[in-house]
Amino acid sequence: MFINGEHVGAASGATTEVHNPATGAVVDTVPRADAEDTRRAIDAAAAAFRAWSKLPPTKRAHILEHAARTVRAGLEDVARLLTSEQGKPIRDSRIEAERCVENIEIYAGMVRGGVLAGKQVPLPAHNAMGLVVRRPIGVVGAIIPWNFPLTLMANKIAPAMAVGNTVVVKPASTTPLATLRIAELLADGGLLPGVLNVVTGPGAVVGEELIRNPLVRKIGFTGETGTGKEVARSAAGELKHVTLELGGSDAAIVCDDADLDLAARTVAIGRFFNAGQACLAVKRVYVFDSVADAFVEKIAARAKRLKLGSGTDESAQMGPLHTDKQRLEIEAQLADAVSRGGKVVAGGNRPAGEEFGAGYYFEPTVVVDVPDDARVWTEETFGPLLPIRRVSSLDEAIALANSSEYGLGSSIFTRDMARAQRAIDELDAGYTWVNAVQIAHDELPFGGTKHSGYGKEHGTEVLDYYTEQKSVVFAS
Ligand code: NDP
Repeated sequence: MFINGEHVGAASGATTEVHNPATGAVVDTVPRADAEDTRRAIDAAAAAFRAWSKLPPTKRAHILEHAARTVRAGLEDVARLLTSEQGKPIRDSRIEAERCVENIEIYAGMVRGGVLAGKQVPLPAHNAMGLVVRRPIGVVGAIIPWNFPLTLMANKIAPAMAVGNTVVVKPASTTPLATLRIAELLADGGLLPGVLNVVTGPGAVVGEELIRNPLVRKIGFTGETGTGKEVARSAAGELKHVTLELGGSDAAIVCDDADLDLAARTVAIGRFFNAGQACLAVKRVYVFDSVADAFVEKIAARAKRLKLGSGTDESAQMGPLHTDKQRLEIEAQLADAVSRGGKVVAGGNRPAGEEFGAGYYFEPTVVVDVPDDARVWTEETFGPLLPIRRVSSLDEAIALANSSEYGLGSSIFTRDMARAQRAIDELDAGYTWVNAVQIAHDELPFGGTKHSGYGKEHGTEVLDYYTEQKSVVFAS
């Protein structure tokens, strides 16, 4: 683990194995922390907060920018670790590692540029002046899932540290290695001890201690909706600030006036990137009846063309699923769809071939004619499985899109501005893309509605979730 600038083991000596999803082989072991180990990290972060939060913002920015340069020099190593523990293709790991360090640079730059400036407010009282100032919150607990271990960590630690908070990160138990490497590189680059700590161990122990410990004032959590609800319940005891980025089941609407090639290309990326293991991902398609056959043909062809392979194969476009449990879940959701009459038009199986034998591979899969009560419509599908349903109108498409308990992302493909406007106004989601790939841009706030959570990451808006505003009255 990485606590107060030092490598430490669990006090008990316990460890956990980290496995490669492409081979099942053990990549490394990490300490298995308990509550006492977690408190050590929280105490280190609380001690570091005093000095870190008092630094002038430009000085903090300077330290973070310098540390980020050291991370940049080690990015290839980080990317290889990420592929070995997560399974994703190496080129995707390189992008993810790059985006992690970029985030640190972006928020350091924002703080240097004066984003923390408060405001002066005229007051009616005689000889009095009002001010609104921003203060960091304190120690932040960042709880991260396994699908994008680095970018989902960066979304939290970059703004948190830039505004003066200190952080304890709890990576997913299956993906701690690249995270630990980033923390080491930041420290090598001059980040002060205790500002960023990483504790490895089970969510129910380490995560729970972070959530309940009164020294931790804010929890940034990304993970499943069920876990997020538990986090919210536990955090309520200490009335903590909580940001919850949870599950999603994003609908894409393909209208009869859409550019079908663009829609098929975009939906294929939106569904099969990261082997479909993404919160923001096209998980349901509603396509107008008159163009449905053409659209299904195009997307099925794309699914069949995708090259599966081990993450270390430079030409692989899709790696294995992260765990066997994940693959079994996707297979069960597909079996449910097929048992209710769904027809598989691409994929549907574990790929044949010796090279796939030991990994948790599953073919990019497209299924049609699935009734509305099937699991693929009502649950989150966290893998390369895409159900497509015909609709007769935009009204029907929007009603079906909104019938999900989730409200993370959404998209529409149309050349008609009036239809796009209706999607923007009526889709219950934190994001709507019009004719575009589902990429969460650093410049725009990101976060869900309904059971996809609350709070925002990215943009300048995230700063509202990592600072507290204080009102000041100056009287003379
Ligand atoms: P989980 O909720 O299982 O785990 C997320 C993190 O929470 C892990 O670090 C886990 O630790 C920890 N954790 C588990 N139980 C507890 C607990 N009781 N208290 C505190 N922490 C706990 O999610 P997955 O890792 O399976 O991630 C996939 C999910 O994340 C999907 O639903 C996906 O949609 C969602 N997600 C949401 C995003 C968003 O921004 N909205 C982005 C990406 C993913 P451990 O690994 O030790 O169990």
